[in-house]
Amino acid sequence: MNLRQSIQQSKRPFLIAGPCSAENEEQVHKVVHDLAIETDIQLIRAGIWKPRTRPDSFEGLGDIALPWLVEAGKINGLPVTVEVANKTHVEEALNAGVDVLWIGARTTVNPFAVQEIADSLQGVDIPVMIKNPVNPDLELWIGAFERLEKAGITDLVALHRGFSFYNHPKYRNVPHWEIPIALKERLGNLPLICDPSHISGRRDLLEEVSQKAMDLNFDGLMIETHPNPDAALSDAQQQITPQQLKNLLEHLVVRESNAKHDVVDQLNEYREQIAVLDGRLFDLFAARMKISAQLGEFKRDHNITIFQREHWENMIRMRLEDVQEHGLTRQFVRRVMDEIHQESIRQQTRVMNPKRD
Ligand code: PEP
Ligand code: MN
Repeated sequence: MNLRQSIQQSKRPFLIAGPCSAENEEQVHKVVHDLAIETDIQLIRAGIWKPRTRPDSFEGLGDIALPWLVEAGKINGLPVTVEVANKTHVEEALNAGVDVLWIGARTTVNPFAVQEIADSLQGVDIPVMIKNPVNPDLELWIGAFERLEKAGITDLVALHRGFSFYNHPKYRNVPHWEIPIALKERLGNLPLICDPSHISGRRDLLEEVSQKAMDLNFDGLMIETHPNPDAALSDAQQQITPQQLKNLLEHLVVRESNAKHDVVDQLNEYREQIAVLDGRLFDLFAARMKISAQLGEFKRDHNITIFQREHWENMIRMRLEDVQEHGLTRQFVRRVMDEIHQESIRQQTRVMNPKRD
């Protein structure tokens, strides 16, 4: 298939859905059938080889699951896509008749692995979707596109699945929307698909993230769906049923953006980027204050006073060192640090003396 063309010709969102992992033949057939009935699905996804964070998790069934997926796609007249992370995966997926390949975030991050995939695709005509690397590194993501382009693959699509962040209070993978937008600017004419499932990590956030992607003019969505999400062998908390997906799509507001280069659109784009960054600032403040409260508990248990002047002066000195590099004024940095300090003392006092607030 020609994926870019299908995306460009489709109404938004171009929909990719299917289970995190193919688990058994019946599950694959059921979910593909139900998706075809309930939604305007255009491409079926399923994980065959799963990159898991910890060993002893379900690592996918491997190549035995490929024919189930391809067959389910054929029965419902739908193309299918799987994640590939090495040469063997590519060969097995191509032999089975998979229509589109995707490179996962944990593979994009590794140029050796991307190069191995690119080499095994020399002379093959197949669309490839490339997820962002796990870390927010635009150049690394661009590098993966370049490796595939050099191997002759031209039908390329970007998938934004968020970036890894230690202990984030809201997202499993934080969406840095400005990065896929910059990628599109750099590579030109590149379809952008958002993967709200891996950004959210939980069902109740899927709609909000999908709406955000539509508001930022993403072309499509890739959402994990399972006939019985709670019993899924991987990513159970973020999967939804095809019926729930239908419901989510019905709630989406999709605005058309034909006046893309208008002044107003440009202005909104800047505002949008600022709103996204402000949101991240407050997520960081929240994470920072949580640690302040933990510090308060520690000081309480060890009979240490809250305020230690010398330590605080050091903290301010450290921040002032970066003033020039950040292009900020000393006055601004001092004011922000003062506010942070006040709030931090308030958080610590609260745990020391819970009755007073
Ligand atoms: C997946 O799509 O199931 C997956 C493993 O995602 P990611 O590469 O984004 O972690
Ligand atoms: Mn998954």
